[in-house]
Amino acid sequence: MKNMSEFDFIKWIQGRAPGGRLTLGIGDDAAELALGRERLVFAADMLLEGRHFDLAQCEPRLVGRKALAVNLSDMAAMAAEPLAFVVSLALPRDGGRRLGEELTNGMIELAETFDVALAGGDTTSWDGPLVVNVAIVGRSPEKGAVTRSGARPGDWIFVTGRLGGSLAGHHLRFAPRVKEALLLREDFDVRAMIDLSDGLASDLRHISEASRCGAVLRRAALPVSEVALSQHGDEAWRAALGDGEDFELCFALPPDAGRRLAARGEIGGTPVTHVGQMTEGKGLQWDDGSDITETGFVHDLR
Ligand code: ADP
Ligand code: MG
Repeated sequence: MKNMSEFDFIKWIQGRAPGGRLTLGIGDDAAELALGRERLVFAADMLLEGRHFDLAQCEPRLVGRKALAVNLSDMAAMAAEPLAFVVSLALPRDGGRRLGEELTNGMIELAETFDVALAGGDTTSWDGPLVVNVAIVGRSPEKGAVTRSGARPGDWIFVTGRLGGSLAGHHLRFAPRVKEALLLREDFDVRAMIDLSDGLASDLRHISEASRCGAVLRRAALPVSEVALSQHGDEAWRAALGDGEDFELCFALPPDAGRRLAARGEIGGTPVTHVGQMTEGKGLQWDDGSDITETGFVHDLR
């Protein structure tokens, strides 16, 4: 295989994956399957020691917490209500028992907060590092799940919370925006949504490509986290745009709903910021017309 990014690989899979009875297949934050009147939404995410966390620097409890939290965040991105999850663990042979227990405790604590059931999983041990995979299932809201592809030119672009500098600690402790997503779906006409795992530049590009629109951002409007501000000062907008793992929501609303939400400034107690607009064009630009070249984080495949 020659140099090929994660995204090219996923496109390759997409071209040959059997779709069965899916109502939404590969390419969004989660897939959807109609079952009678309900629609199930499901997704999976894997964390690797040495890549997504470092056990020398963080407690196993927080690793377990994060493994579930990233999956809850994908449910939020669809405005789905999470219901249950399964966990697969590859534990290092030495110290694996204790590690597994602490990790599971961290996961259970978060599961109770979000009222999701731990439904099973798989446990193995080996001489390699810790690997944690979580797969989650939820259900679509009555109005239907929110995909990445429904934004239209003129829609207002919002983000929840503050962005940038997540690796200083936020990535282990973030609150998945599940409640916020359900409220948005209920009260506003959310047209497209994604959770910010790879950075705003990269993830908004997914909405833009899936919706076949351009997007314009106002640099001065980007809600920069305090950590990013203290680390980068005037350049903190770069962190807000390019750092991954914020796990905030980015979404598009038609102008009327956008105006209404911007006036409120919050959803479910979490601040929301109007950061830009979808356009007739292509790609991402600043409001002065210059191209946004930042790409965010891309997993490399060789
Ligand atoms: P996210 O960052 O929201 O977790 P990803 O970028 O990991 O999403 O995945 C994008 C899409 O590709 C999703 O629909 C996901 O289910 C799918 N996908 C990722 N890896 C694979 C794989 N190995 N086989 C099939 N589908 C995959
Ligand atoms: Mg996602």
